[in-house]
Amino acid sequence: MSDCIFCKIIAGEIPSKKVYEDDMLLAFWDVAPKAPVHLLVIPKVHIKNLYELNETNAAYAHAMITKAPEIAKQAGLAEGFRLIANTGEACGQTVHHLHFHILGRFNESGDTG
Ligand code: 5GP
Ligand code: ZN
Repeated sequence: MSDCIFCKIIAGEIPSKKVYEDDMLLAFWDVAPKAPVHLLVIPKVHIKNLYELNETNAAYAHAMITKAPEIAKQAGLAEGFRLIANTGEACGQTVHHLHFHILGRFNESGDTG
């Protein structure tokens, strides 16, 4: 989609700090990190959000989930991480291209920092 920020990142039209890439996925640092480690994992096709998963594109979601632990470990999160997909504007989705947030390194209360 021509007006999608994440499609532009995939196309290299907007720079990003990439940490992982393969045929199906791209992972990069969130531009405004909300935790000491805050990465985004996106499919290389424009899927709006989890509501748009179907039999044809489900392989992307499978790849995102199965690669997430490896991507997290490479970023230093061998002890644990959070995997979050805000789905729909009603639940805070601001970029309408499917993405999982990988968040890690929290203090003992579970807050960031
Ligand atoms: P959402 O609110 O849709 O779940 O998450 C979108 C995320 O994308 C936000 O955490 C926001 O900081 C991040 N983001 C928005 N624009 C850009 C960008 O151009 N580059 C990067 N790396 N992250 C972005
Ligand atoms: Zn897109």
